[in-house]
Amino acid sequence: MKQVKRRTWFCLLFTALLAVGLGLFLMRYTVHGGEWAAFRANRHIYDTNGHLLSGTVRDRTGAVLYDAASGTYHEDAALRRALLHATGDRDGNIATGAVYAFGDKLSGFTPILGTTTGGHNLYLTLDASLCAKAYSAMNGRKGAVGVYNYKTGEVLCMVSLPAFDPADPPTIRDGDSRYEGVYVNRFLSASYTPGSVFKLVTTAAALEQLPDVESRTFTCDGRIEIDGQAITCPSAHGTMTFSQALANSCNGVYASLASELGGRTMWQYAKKAGLLDGVSVSGLSSAAGNYTAAADGSADLGWSGVGQYEDLVNPCAMMTFAGTIANGGAVVSPRLLLKETTAGGLPAGRFSAEKHAGGLRAATCETLREMMRANVTEHYGQSQFGDLAVCAKSGTAEVGGGQRPHAWFTGFIDDEAHPLAFVVVVENGGSGASAAGGVAAQVLSAAVEAGY
Ligand SMILES: [Zn+2]
Repeated sequence: MKQVKRRTWFCLLFTALLAVGLGLFLMRYTVHGGEWAAFRANRHIYDTNGHLLSGTVRDRTGAVLYDAASGTYHEDAALRRALLHATGDRDGNIATGAVYAFGDKLSGFTPILGTTTGGHNLYLTLDASLCAKAYSAMNGRKGAVGVYNYKTGEVLCMVSLPAFDPADPPTIRDGDSRYEGVYVNRFLSASYTPGSVFKLVTTAAALEQLPDVESRTFTCDGRIEIDGQAITCPSAHGTMTFSQALANSCNGVYASLASELGGRTMWQYAKKAGLLDGVSVSGLSSAAGNYTAAADGSADLGWSGVGQYEDLVNPCAMMTFAGTIANGGAVVSPRLLLKETTAGGLPAGRFSAEKHAGGLRAATCETLREMMRANVTEHYGQSQFGDLAVCAKSGTAEVGGGQRPHAWFTGFIDDEAHPLAFVVVVENGGSGASAAGGVAAQVLSAAVEAGY
């Protein structure tokens, strides 16, 4: 009798262990099943070369960018190149490419039916024609272009150069500068010295921490000295208001403001602006930025306030910050996934806007908006933007080594009908306002013309 009782207990114990194990497995299966199915050695979904066998990647209009069953890309070569980093290459070298990054969705995996019902159609938020226009506006120069709707988070344009035609990939030799970092999606995965676009952060910090800053008058005679080092402007800017100091992008004023604010406060505002941490874009994490708080009273601290020293910013994070200013301080995360349907066209997944409170006050964003609008009307020139209420800041980031500076241009359209924020980086492009500003003007006008 005693033995039977003991056996019963053992049976119960093993049944309980089995139940717990099964429960854990089912939980992990439900959460991670799609990823397991998308494992590149899974022969139901990938062929022996690791090529996806089912599903289509489409742009927001439904244009097929990649059909995995036939292994074919879009018929237009210019469009294939422009969308290389969004669609991905067959060999999976591009980590941000949908073919690689969203393989679990394309495979059509569901916890009950597995992958038996066929691949899914994955619609990206991108407009392929707009991406092609941005690619062409870059005119072969390396860099990145991004445009997103700051109300819905939908990324309409994401382009990274250099690129190649994924339908006819070139043989790339080590050290071939034409293809330097070609597998890197520079919009999501690169960080650059920001130069003067970083003055938006210093401006935000000054507006919140120096209550009288808007009533101050500043004077620039072309250079100031901090800790024995000269910080110079291209020419003497003379006497200015705070708004004019931003429009003139006066290094002297901004280095002095950073010194007054201190390294710790400057770091806090780089963090509040969302420029230090990666931005999550439909689960893809953008590259982190950097702000090193230099010693108080040092020239390095001054340079960090004008976007030089060790400052690094990712283009996608910068675009998101511009969108945050447009939204009065609320952060709408950019996203790349619009919808997912089954092979038969039934809805299989919906993706919606993610909005959360940011670190900056609404009043700060409102003043930044006015100052960025004045940059365009009084400095860059409204004519290149037609009648669009563009608010912007340029950056010309010194990169050393005798190379031309990186050109930046970022901002947004202040219009409920066209809620677009943007960023353009042209590597070694020279002047931010003319090189990157020119690309931004072309892309924005194409976006608005397309109805965005
Ligand atoms: Zn100056």
